[in-house]
Amino acid sequence: NILVEHTDPELWAAILQENTRQEHHIELIASENYASPAVMAAQGSQLTNKYAEGYPGRRYYGGCEHVDIAEQLAIDRVKQIFGAQAANVQPHCGASANEAVFLAFLKPGDTIMGMSLAEGGHLTHGMALNMSGKWFNVVSYGLNSKEEIDYDAMEQTARASKPKLIIAGASAYSLAIDFERFAKIAKEVGAIFMVDMAHYAGLIAAGLYPNPVPHADVVTSTTHKSLRGPRGGIILMKAEHEKAINSAIFPGLQGGPLMHVIAAKAVAFKEALSPEFKLYQQQVITNARIMAETLTERGLRIVSGRTESHLMLVDLRSKGITGKEAEAVLGSAHMTINKNAIPNDPEKPMVTSGIRVGTPAMTTRGFKDAEARATANLIADVLDNPRDANNIEAVRAKVHALTTRFPVYG
Ligand code: PLP
Repeated sequence: NILVEHTDPELWAAILQENTRQEHHIELIASENYASPAVMAAQGSQLTNKYAEGYPGRRYYGGCEHVDIAEQLAIDRVKQIFGAQAANVQPHCGASANEAVFLAFLKPGDTIMGMSLAEGGHLTHGMALNMSGKWFNVVSYGLNSKEEIDYDAMEQTARASKPKLIIAGASAYSLAIDFERFAKIAKEVGAIFMVDMAHYAGLIAAGLYPNPVPHADVVTSTTHKSLRGPRGGIILMKAEHEKAINSAIFPGLQGGPLMHVIAAKAVAFKEALSPEFKLYQQQVITNARIMAETLTERGLRIVSGRTESHLMLVDLRSKGITGKEAEAVLGSAHMTINKNAIPNDPEKPMVTSGIRVGTPAMTTRGFKDAEARATANLIADVLDNPRDANNIEAVRAKVHALTTRFPVYG
């Protein structure tokens, strides 16, 4: 990186500062992780220079013989990880993977059904300001009184409104999702069944969360969350949908694929096939469970009562603090989380009564049971006394001691 340092010192300073932040803050944003140096090296390679519109062996540009190898490796590996019949590794991100599915199967005005954003869904699943909400007629499902997905209500809504596409998957739901039950109702009402497994992909790759692939027509994901690859998207599908999905990505939605990112996806998929990756994901889940138990002991309520994944939503109302304030004050103690609405949140979306806490990133840096417990206690220490500068200072010192013991990139 000597070159960036010399060509653009101003930018280099920002990169160094971001690196320091990543090293010295405990990263608890559930959708983030630390990609390996090998993933980052592939992403920073000469493959960024190559145009390769089309698919391996069928390109609209010459000179694609080497990038073809990279893309084929990524396709073969991701199919192997999840047991998929076909895969497209070109989506630039999770949102464009989802849009490609809509483009492949829907027309504007069609009805789609997804989990409501307010109860844990993602904005691409039908939120009013998103393309999914503007172009389609959206019906949604949410949680029951136990804060579990209300499968009965979901089935009733599906029968009543006959959506053309049903989406399962969430950004802030801590429990296992019954994909089989979704698949059954989709079949009954004649809907395409799509799963957006972005949050859970790493756990699924390790066999520690239900795999939607046998049940769904198409499965979309990001590659940068629990899967720990470069920032990007993928689509897995039944063979019968391969043609429609591939032409929805190109030429439907995108031009040239990002071959350097696809190469980095191939590296990440190789890592995900290793025995160490399974141990890592087991620790991600153990750490989340320990944090949920510790936060509960410290007087905080976990939405849905528990976690069966890498994340949890924490109801802050017992501490008299909003999500917005908690995000700021935890940030000043060098713990990064995001504010998040809880079910039936009395506060506005920019304020909220909750925070979302996830363990993929801290587990990558080596945090195990003891550090997970310590981190949860540090969060509770901050929330018990959020307006006391001495308290924040004391927690920050403890965070610093922890992060120094567990460097990310060294
Ligand atoms: N789907 C789900 C479930 C997500 O949680 C996210 C991102 O948070 C996305 C899709 C969108 O991914 P991206 O930010 O890469 O577009």
